[in-house]
Amino acid sequence: MTPGKTSLLLYGIFLLQLSFAQEHGIINNAESPHVTLKSIDIGDCKWTEGFWADKFKICEETMVPYMGSLLCGETGHALNNFKRAAGLQEGPHKGMKWHDGDFYKWIEASMYVYAQNGDEEILKKVDEYIRIIAMAQQEDGYLQTQIQLNDQFESYENRRFHEMYNSGHLFTSACIHYRITGQTNFLDIAVKQADLLLALFLPESKRYGRFGFNQTQIMGLVELYRTTGNGSYLELAQKFIDNRGKYKIEYNETTLGYPVGDMVQERTPLREANEAVGHAVLALYYYAGAADVYAETGEQALILALDRLWDNVTGKKMYITGAVGQAHYGASTNRELIQEGFIDAYMMPNLTAYNETCANVCNSMFSYRMLGVHGESKYADIMELVLYNSALSGISLEGEDYFYANPLRMVNDTRDYHSHANVTESPVREPYLNCFCCPPNLVRTIAKISGWAYSLSENGVSVNLYGGSTLKTSLLDGTELSLGQESLYPWEGSVKITVRKCKKEAFDILLRIPEWADGSTILVNGKDAGVEISAGSFAIINRPWKKGDNLTLEMPMEVKLMAGNPRIEEVRNQAAIKRGPIVYCIESPDLPEEAKILDVYLPSDSELTPIYQADFLGGLTSILGEVYLRHETEEGLYHAIKKPQWEPYSTRFVPYYAWSNRGRAEMSVFLPLIWE
Ligand SMILES: [Zn+2]
Repeated sequence: MTPGKTSLLLYGIFLLQLSFAQEHGIINNAESPHVTLKSIDIGDCKWTEGFWADKFKICEETMVPYMGSLLCGETGHALNNFKRAAGLQEGPHKGMKWHDGDFYKWIEASMYVYAQNGDEEILKKVDEYIRIIAMAQQEDGYLQTQIQLNDQFESYENRRFHEMYNSGHLFTSACIHYRITGQTNFLDIAVKQADLLLALFLPESKRYGRFGFNQTQIMGLVELYRTTGNGSYLELAQKFIDNRGKYKIEYNETTLGYPVGDMVQERTPLREANEAVGHAVLALYYYAGAADVYAETGEQALILALDRLWDNVTGKKMYITGAVGQAHYGASTNRELIQEGFIDAYMMPNLTAYNETCANVCNSMFSYRMLGVHGESKYADIMELVLYNSALSGISLEGEDYFYANPLRMVNDTRDYHSHANVTESPVREPYLNCFCCPPNLVRTIAKISGWAYSLSENGVSVNLYGGSTLKTSLLDGTELSLGQESLYPWEGSVKITVRKCKKEAFDILLRIPEWADGSTILVNGKDAGVEISAGSFAIINRPWKKGDNLTLEMPMEVKLMAGNPRIEEVRNQAAIKRGPIVYCIESPDLPEEAKILDVYLPSDSELTPIYQADFLGGLTSILGEVYLRHETEEGLYHAIKKPQWEPYSTRFVPYYAWSNRGRAEMSVFLPLIWE
């Protein structure tokens, strides 16, 4: 597909508009008026050593290629669906109705890898797939293989058919492809599809007013607005927000396919919402999209609502791993049935926690946008918490097996995990999931984390995420900045940043002091930086920097026993182990063969010692310590208590993200405490 004359002209105008601001970020907020911390360009930061460098390498060498072999082969169906819709192959649509979206996410992941390694083979393949996608697109811009390949379905008749979801991922992926390559072959497809949405959904209409529920299209439309300058895309994004909660809650021909009300965040208009409700993925994509709209419009009612919702999610409904969406099936606070989502505040079951990998990833996406808007480090704390724990737990260490649900406890023989045809809750990671939304969502995130690591402030740069890396970027005034970061974080709490190139005038380097890092110190060229250091905020070091200057941040990495709020019944008198941002768990391979996870108790004074082993589970720090095992098995639902017989046992705790990499196991993050 070749770009039309209008679009060429549009891109030409945009090239002329290129200012000093970075236009090629993961979200392009260079010109967004209501953003405090702006994106660096994709590729400005590269991991060089340590945790994320290792993960990116697995992502580049295994996660992305392996996933490509699934989606472009016979296991997944994504590419075949596009080929069939393009008339290149015979056969029906296969897989879930959101499978097109899964493919777009995988293309996005491939592009982040390409931005880092410049491997032209990746781009060649992606462009070949884009050619097929273009052939599948209808003349009017419509592009949904799940509908096009099924004569029984009408377009935009059933909101469960995920058309908006697929469109949103198309828009985002196409914008990323354009920003990295400068090519418009994918962007043209997105624009053609978005223009169809404008024609159908922008006019006031009862028929389409409640359409869509998994609203990635809001983020996608804002990004498309930022890429093309077409204000109608922003207008439509805002309309999708305004429509929610506007119509009477009832089932009718416009709500085919999915529950109404809280489940799809349509009972309460967003600007009036105080409580995160409904499907957690739907909610967080929606909030993230609304944060993108706020970045452009600056509407106070919108950001105040998002502030309340962020507080509600992270302060009352989030697990210690950063995971969200407590229940597979349950009820909202308004007592409406919900699936895969938020239930009451402080209701945090461990064994049955749903915590879809997508929901956890979306929690970090929402927080990244709030970090940009407010410029406060607490948002990056949540991003980090999610990334190291409940995001990474979604994929095996070798990068080929996936968890959809991420519970905090696994007990064998208590649930029939395979009673449902589409396995979403599983005791072990699966090499393929029929419902494949999570794997590419997680892999594209691992591929892009370097783009989240730094942001640009008014007169400087913020360090959001730590890890060995180089940064070559331009500050917002257009001057060049180059930094080197050396760190073995999160296994060690030391971060050394060296200035390699910068302007002569003074500027800020903002260092995130995590909320758990009380007692951190900062040295500049070996001497106390003399700045305020407060856990849970950015420390700002302003001075005229010069080449060779260095900053050393030392964060205390003691092992902590963490308790839950007493209102969380499920963890009363239990504790979890945390060191830095890493949440630990105990699992069967570290217990005697006959021991059950429910027999394990944790003495409150257990001496807990971190130990790094390069050859254990991909290289990580585990925690050595003593637990008590209780042997007598109690039958029946209740029994009179008797003094237990304890057996001390020396064991180790592994990071939660690394569990289930040594065969099928029982596991628990929280353990009952014995107070000594
Ligand atoms: Zn998912």
